[in-house]
Parts: sequence; structure tokens; C-alpha cells
Amino acid sequence: MRIDLLTLFPAMLEGPLSASIPGRIREQGIADIRVHDLRNWGLGRHRSVDDTPYGGGAGMVMRPEPVAAALDALRGPGSTAILLDPAGEVFRQARAAELARRDHLILVCPRYEGVDDRIRGLVDVELSIGDYVLTGGELPALVVVDAVIRLLPGAIDAASTAEESFADGLLEYPQYTRPAEFRGQGVPDVLVSGHHEAVRRWRLEASLRRTLERRPDLLDGRPAGLEERRILEAIQGEALEEPEA
Ligand code: SAM
Repeated sequence: MRIDLLTLFPAMLEGPLSASIPGRIREQGIADIRVHDLRNWGLGRHRSVDDTPYGGGAGMVMRPEPVAAALDALRGPGSTAILLDPAGEVFRQARAAELARRDHLILVCPRYEGVDDRIRGLVDVELSIGDYVLTGGELPALVVVDAVIRLLPGAIDAASTAEESFADGLLEYPQYTRPAEFRGQGVPDVLVSGHHEAVRRWRLEASLRRTLERRPDLLDGRPAGLEERRILEAIQGEALEEPEA
């Protein structure tokens, strides 16, 4: 996979993309990630990229020409151009998995009050990372790139990404490691039993229980098999049986 990032602050991206797992993914050539300074496509002697908003108001708006020129220069037949924007589709794991199957992503990271609205027509996807406003698109782009590249074949152990939160629409089961006793809390006996089927069933139940308690919205419309339906019914039955405080 090739990923191009367009930014006015390349240093904000290079550090996180060179460390830890993203750094290794780049070194091993699993993803070819390139950071571009949008000023290279800036206008005039000062390589200007922004201007005041038509209609007045606070702040500056990024002009469309530099972004459009950068997209023209980098885009090929298999490219997907992504604009980071609070008005975009909320980024979720399913979208990360879908983007991980594409050949080439170009991420546009605006600053200031955002980019001229006419750029929306030049991108394929607009993504938001949540209902809050950050100072620029760099952190959202890092979130998207990190979530996508760890799903690429060879990036990390496939079993890790198959069994984690959201992979099959549920929150992950609780995880424990040594010590067996920590500040008065033990670990569930089944996890040290060595009984693989019992561990699998405990984890499925714990995962369903946590999802039901914390993110019941994830269960809405989720196709559940017979085993899951039975476990969910049992958990919901327990809640009905609990005496009122
Ligand atoms: N004026 C914009 C608005 O009210 O929607 C906010 C602009 S924000 C200060 C500057 C840039 O940061 C945005 O254009 C976008 O690229 C990025 N950004 C901020 N919050 C974001 C979010 N939640 N998701 C994705 N991008 C975001």
C-alpha cells in the first residue's frame, strides 16, 4: 500500500510515523508512507496557501488551488483521496478494514478554519474522528493511518487484529497477565485452567457482557449466532432477576 499525506506541518506526522509499529511497517516496506509539505504547491513567491474567508469572519481558510494541484500530482487510477473534516463520516473499524484493502490513499490535512469547500468535490471520502474540533487534520490523519496500516498483511500478528474490539462488532474481553494477585484482585480461575474451550466461552461471554453494559448500540442489528443469543439471553435474564436496591 502507498499512503501520501498532505500537510503544512510535516514534522507533526514524521515522528509518530517513524516510531514503534508504524516505523517497522515502513521499514519492512509493508506500506510506503510519504509526507508532503503542501507549501510545495503554494501560490506565488511566498508559497501562500490560505486567505481570508469570503463573507468575513474569524480566521483564515485554505485556498483550494494548492490542495487541488497536490491531488492532481499524486493521484493515479487506484487512488482514494481522503479529506479529514469534522463534517465527515465518523471513522470506525469497518471503514479502517475497507481502506486497508485499497492500493493508494492520499490524506489531506487542513489547518485554520479548514479548506475551501470546493475541495470536497475532489476527494473520495471525508472522515471525522469524532465530535470535537482539533487544530488541524494531522492528528486525525495519524489516527486513520495507524488504524489502517496495522491491518495490512504482515503488519502485526493476524490473531491480534481478528480478536480485538470492534473486529467482529463487540468490545474485547478483559485481559490479564502476571501477577496472579494484584492489590487484592485475582484473575478468573478459568483463564489458568488450561481448558481452551472453557476459556473461549468465558471470553465470548465477557465480551458480550462488556458490550451490553458499555456499548449496547454495537449490538443493534448485529447478526448473532445461536451461542451468542443464548449467552445474551442469560445475561439479560440475570439483570431481570437482580433484586432492587
Ligand atoms: N471550522 C471547522 C469547523 O467548524 O468544522 C473546524 C476547523 S479545524 C480548527 C481545522 C481542521 O482540523 C479541519 O479542517 C480538519 O481538517 C481538522 N479537524 C479538526 N477536528 C477534526 C475531527 N474531529 N475529525 C477530522 N478532522 C478534524
